[in-house]
Amino acid sequence: MVANVGRLHVIAGCMSSGKTGELIRLLSRHAVTGDTMVIYKHCVDSRDGSRARSRLGMEMEALVIEHAREISGDDCRVIAIEEAQFFGDALADVVRRLLAEGHLVYVTGLNQDFRGEPFGVMPELMALADEISLLTAICQKCHGVGTRTQRVIDGEPAPWDSPLILVGGGDFYEARCPDCHEVPGRPAT
Ligand code: ZN
Repeated sequence: MVANVGRLHVIAGCMSSGKTGELIRLLSRHAVTGDTMVIYKHCVDSRDGSRARSRLGMEMEALVIEHAREISGDDCRVIAIEEAQFFGDALADVVRRLLAEGHLVYVTGLNQDFRGEPFGVMPELMALADEISLLTAICQKCHGVGTRTQRVIDGEPAPWDSPLILVGGGDFYEARCPDCHEVPGRPAT
């Protein structure tokens, strides 16, 4: 019997926390029941072309899209969306529609931006979720528990006022614990 009520599972965490690996593990369980599935990923995340690839070497085919409106349930029971933070607020309504249609929806994304602030549509998706996996990484500075995403530009911590999404810049990201997470110029609270 196939339930007609959808479910949303959000896999959140910082950079290098294994979100794609966990997604592939969760999706692979559906092979037992023969559920059809599709993975969407945002075109900003072009590291691996049209594949969802984890650092453990696991990978699955993905459809590369630019807008949330390109996401369609079609005949697939299971819908996965990678890097949700890039899609903007429109993704929340798309996910609501998929759930109303009875889909099983998996979403991965950064819950915090490089400043340590809630990232885009992720807080809303986490509030809508039936289940949340909040993953941690290893801090690349002290080897503690990494929960933050550090942006580094030209070898220096990125300042608070640098743009939220840099495309093709000289920046890179690494996992940090809260103690090692540096955001120069953070306004006083
Ligand atoms: Zn640390």
